Amino acid sequence: MRPSQLYGSAYLASQLRGQSRYPFRPLTAVLADQSRRVRAMVAYAYRYVPFYRETLDRLGLRPQDFRTARDLERLPVIETEAYQRDPDRFLSTAQPREAYLAIRTSGSSGHPRTLYHDWRGVAQNAAHAERDRALVADLLGHPRSYRETVIKRTPESSTPHLVQQMLRRHVWFPTRMGIERQYLRTLDPLETIVAQLNEFRPHVLHVNGSYLALFFGYLHRTGAACHLPRVLTYGSEGASETIRRLIMDEFGVPVLSAYQTTEAFKLGFECDQHVGYHLNLDLYPLRLVNSEGQAVPDGETGEVVISNLVNRATVLLNYRLNDLAHLIPEPCPCGRTLPLLSFLQGRGRDFLDLGSGRVLHPALVDGLFTNQEGIWQYQVVQKSRSQLAVAVLVAPGVNQEGVRSKLLTGFREACGEGVTIEIAFVDRIPSTPGGKVPPVVGLSPDTNEPTTATGAQLS
Ligand SMILES: [Zn+2]
Repeated sequence: MRPSQLYGSAYLASQLRGQSRYPFRPLTAVLADQSRRVRAMVAYAYRYVPFYRETLDRLGLRPQDFRTARDLERLPVIETEAYQRDPDRFLSTAQPREAYLAIRTSGSSGHPRTLYHDWRGVAQNAAHAERDRALVADLLGHPRSYRETVIKRTPESSTPHLVQQMLRRHVWFPTRMGIERQYLRTLDPLETIVAQLNEFRPHVLHVNGSYLALFFGYLHRTGAACHLPRVLTYGSEGASETIRRLIMDEFGVPVLSAYQTTEAFKLGFECDQHVGYHLNLDLYPLRLVNSEGQAVPDGETGEVVISNLVNRATVLLNYRLNDLAHLIPEPCPCGRTLPLLSFLQGRGRDFLDLGSGRVLHPALVDGLFTNQEGIWQYQVVQKSRSQLAVAVLVAPGVNQEGVRSKLLTGFREACGEGVTIEIAFVDRIPSTPGGKVPPVVGLSPDTNEPTTATGAQLS
């Protein structure tokens, strides 16, 4: 251990205490922790982050005026575009930029940007991971060590890998960490992936949600003999409910997803009841708003606005994510008290502007697919104001003409006259350079071209 790692190791150990049981804490205690973190973060932001100093001064507010998460609503809602235009206004001056971990995100919404994380925040995230790792440990029967395979587009530049690298600079880990990892690439041929899984025999498989339809679709179609993990975890984008059911029912592998973004690493996690995400509200206060930014009534769908009370490099308070969801008021049967958010609707969504005032909401577009059996994955790319290209990945044996005619009817009803709909059945939906498969790709308002490279590949 290097002397400089002594402090880091002690810090991580202090953060780890009580994390695996934290989701069962009384909600009042969680909210008290949340308020304490709000006060600390606003004071910090006012001192070190230009945007918050300017904004509070302009609004005649002082840091002491922020006592609970409700008070964060007094700040303007920060949009992705505003961050992208001037990221340095949100960057803390407490440390030089080189001290932070820079994570570049391609953005499924076509807004590439870089976000910075400080090492203490990264260490806290590692500790907070115990909240969902406890579920994996339960499923595995609490072994002393286990094997995990991670499949990413470029493993060496993936967020988990960069985070591990930063942690190891600041924190000393014993050589036997208990988890042995294998990294594979999403672009490798599926036969190669299967062969490597059969050799390594992982207990846990971790992938991006958009990879599930491709991989399990392949296993289902070919019947290839593949070692199956005891649990599958995934993040980033959502996978369709159909593909989740296939993995759980046909392959018998429990699935646990996480709600995570580059802006906020650990928003929430799925438990073994599979009803939605338990929200880490003490770390990331979350509210749901309509398109005008007003709170939606309880239980109604709205856009997710979060505040990150962990990261002290890029500081984002009252930040709108491009996600739609609703809160689930009923308590979860698993006994965890952290509130539940529904799975996301239309993540990585674009609105489809058909011109002359007609706009298709991404949730409406999703609805056309999710009410049909046998659709594993889909993508709608707007090629022009009057032309939509639809790619669909369906289960083998599904009546494609039936799916096609239902989709055509649905789209014609939603779009009205004068819009051409092309529907193609494909084996694989191409991902963006960032490895994502956005379900809906609209036109960029600037160029009138599809907002991601995916669109170009499809045309
Ligand atoms: Zn639960």
